[in-house]
Amino acid sequence: MFKKFSYALGLLFFAAFAFLIFKNANLISFIDSIENKTFDLRQSIMINEGSKKANKDIVIIAIDDATYEYILGKYGEWPLPRDIYANIINYLEKQSPRAIAFDMMFVKSLKSENKADEALIKTFKKYNNIFTSMNFDNQSADLREPPVLPEKLTVDIINLSHLNFSDLTFTNCRSILDGIIQATSNIGIINVSRSDDGILRKMPVVVKYKEQFYPQLALKVGLNYLGEKQTSFEIDKNSNFKIGDRKIYLDKDGSAILNWYGPAGTYTYIPMYQLIKAVNGEKTELDYNFSNKIIYFGTTAASLFDIKTVPSGKIYPGVEVQATYVNNIIDNNFIRKVHKGYTIALSILLALLIASVVSRVDSAFTASLICFSADLIYILISYYAMKFENLWLDITYPLIFSIFAFTSTYIIKYLIKSRDFEQQYKLATTDGLTELYNHRYFQEQIRMQVEQSKRYNSSFSLIIIDIDFFKRFNDTFGHQSGDAVLRQVAQTLKRNVRTTDIVCRYGGEEMSIILPNTPKEEAFSTAQKICDRVANKKFRLFNGKETNVTISLGVSTFPADGESAVDIIEAADKRLYNAKNNGRNQVG
Ligand code: GH3
Ligand code: MG
Ligand code: MG
Repeated sequence: MFKKFSYALGLLFFAAFAFLIFKNANLISFIDSIENKTFDLRQSIMINEGSKKANKDIVIIAIDDATYEYILGKYGEWPLPRDIYANIINYLEKQSPRAIAFDMMFVKSLKSENKADEALIKTFKKYNNIFTSMNFDNQSADLREPPVLPEKLTVDIINLSHLNFSDLTFTNCRSILDGIIQATSNIGIINVSRSDDGILRKMPVVVKYKEQFYPQLALKVGLNYLGEKQTSFEIDKNSNFKIGDRKIYLDKDGSAILNWYGPAGTYTYIPMYQLIKAVNGEKTELDYNFSNKIIYFGTTAASLFDIKTVPSGKIYPGVEVQATYVNNIIDNNFIRKVHKGYTIALSILLALLIASVVSRVDSAFTASLICFSADLIYILISYYAMKFENLWLDITYPLIFSIFAFTSTYIIKYLIKSRDFEQQYKLATTDGLTELYNHRYFQEQIRMQVEQSKRYNSSFSLIIIDIDFFKRFNDTFGHQSGDAVLRQVAQTLKRNVRTTDIVCRYGGEEMSIILPNTPKEEAFSTAQKICDRVANKKFRLFNGKETNVTISLGVSTFPADGESAVDIIEAADKRLYNAKNNGRNQVG
């Protein structure tokens, strides 16, 4: 009963704990940040295992430090004149690449001559596999008027999910050359999503601007690779962004969670200066076949670096994030987060398992080992779920729950145990009929009193009580009435002594009271009081009738009547005998 109650209480406590966690926004974001770290760890292990292979069809043309130096030396200016890009594109197109994507923005530049811009615009008109980017932000209209963008850059979204894209809604846009916008619809955005800790784990698939949806550059490049001409997309009620029969799971902010293929440098890098040299017909080490490749242009130079921190590394060029994104689309490899409801259910299940192990297994060591193994198995499952199923199973919540379950079950178990001990102690020291202390306890206590009184030079007294003519009483009223009277006498004794006095059933219908720190006179008057109270009390019989009962008492005191427990008992007994002989119902 108490056990069940304790466990019910524990469960209630547990529910309150869970409720507290899920209601506290700060706590949730703290736990989420730890969860994110476990994601990073899982990704890192997977990468180190080498099981992920980056797509060899993606190549990065890096505007690295060497290229920056080369361009400044050769052209005396930065950025690179736009007609050089035009030349590069024309050069690459001869090898029929699958796509050329610029993870950089061709914004209006005073330095760039109109003629040079025109040359670039012409290439955008000429080839339909060239992609470039734009970026949305929240700059005030004071800095620049939010531009009106052509319809062709948008995609239609049928949103059946609960996602509202509020974190991915922007109020302004850094526009690029008008000529390019007019020349092509192959323009994607390059906005990123960062977690609170600044680490980039997710990327928007689409963002919102002026009530319209604009696709990510990598999404456009990926669609091109898949041969998908789709411009209208459905987000199903499970937050999946559907491309043909592929699904990109969108996290609660509307971003896709990327799977990472390796540290920076996972994709093939070619310094752009080599390409410029090749275009210009100069001698260069460049030896690469661009046919059928997805070519991504982006800055990696320290001075121009757009550095990202990602789960697979602290320094990761933005262009490689784009490459990773495209790779995820090609491999259909995005991470899917397990619904919070399942996480909670799993956490509770694990907690219950651990609670039942702790409550059932006696050895603390074994119980700990089993619980530790259960957690370890869960962690392994979550690792392999990510590795083989792209599933992000939360680790933090289940672990917190299981630790809580472990400790609280131990506390409950301890409480139950200590109560069991108390119960057993009580059982061993009390008499079942009268609920007074039993004979064994009496013997223990009187010996202890002797020791203590000796040590502290104090005195204590003993009263022994015997009910008068009890045999006759039993014969007259029956044993059950005898028992009832025994109980009532016991209660009367208890009620008429101090709480520090120890009332015991000495045996049969004899009872005893140890009165610590009590001299003879005081004990005698207590005995007299008890004698009177019993004599004046109506005792209720088994049949409901009432009758009178008397008792005889013997009092002895340590050390006046003896130095040992035996002497003290004997002295009290002798006086009890005297009381009986003198006519009963009195103190001897
Ligand atoms: P006295 O006044 O000399 O004490 O007479 P008495 O009849 O009480 O004599 P004694 O103390 O020798 O009798 C003990 C009797 O108490 C014997 C037994 O019938 C009764 N008795 C002992 N234990 C119990 C008990 O647990 N329940 C009941 N109902 N009677 C008991
Ligand atoms: Mg007796
Ligand atoms: Mg008696």
